[in-house]
Amino acid sequence: MLRASLLSLACAALVAVAPSGARAAEPAATPFTLPALPYAVDALAPVIDARTMEIHHGRHHKAYVDNLNAKVAEFPALADASIEDVMANISDYDTAVRNNGGGHYNHSLFWSVMAAPGQGGAPSAALAARITQDFGSDADFRKAFADAAAKQFGSGWAWLIARPDGSLAVTSTPNQDNPLMDVVETRGTPLLGIDVWEHAYYLQYQNKRADYAKAWWDVVDWKAVNTRYEAAMQAKAD
Ligand code: MN
Repeated sequence: MLRASLLSLACAALVAVAPSGARAAEPAATPFTLPALPYAVDALAPVIDARTMEIHHGRHHKAYVDNLNAKVAEFPALADASIEDVMANISDYDTAVRNNGGGHYNHSLFWSVMAAPGQGGAPSAALAARITQDFGSDADFRKAFADAAAKQFGSGWAWLIARPDGSLAVTSTPNQDNPLMDVVETRGTPLLGIDVWEHAYYLQYQNKRADYAKAWWDVVDWKAVNTRYEAAMQAKAD
């Protein structure tokens, strides 16, 4: 606390002596924040180990947030926009905002759609019915999702999305792109997403991405997915 206070004083002093209008004197705006994990770092074990969670959340996701905040001076619109709005208008920004803004949105979603093994419940009746309608069966949906995760070449994500017409689809995106972005082929509202970057699984699964994707079903928080589906259907109705 004392150290933080001294640091604040030191920064204030620097600002006070900096020439008026100098960029370095402006306080850094940081509109985006790293969300706390909604569970302990070891809560998803044995599916995802604590060390992977610590590095993934505390270093990778934090870096996306820090790098995104560093772009606010260049893109002032970031200061007032929700991350969803940034995604929907990502073609207005540069590659760094696309990569780091996408990274922030994607990881925030990722943490929120997982729960301790066996604690995630099941798809709601409405979501289960729509899965059957659009994929044939729950098993067919899971196969499509696993295929999307397996076939994404290099780093990226696989998604279950609600399309604007209310139908469901499985997609994949490279890097930190996502289905909200106005630059991706198949757009929709993400309901569920799996991170298939090697940093998401390599410590525990090494090169066996399919094993990670298969085990991952045990930590999917269907209660959160159901809520996202209901919100998407409500937004469509409004
Ligand atoms: Mn990641």
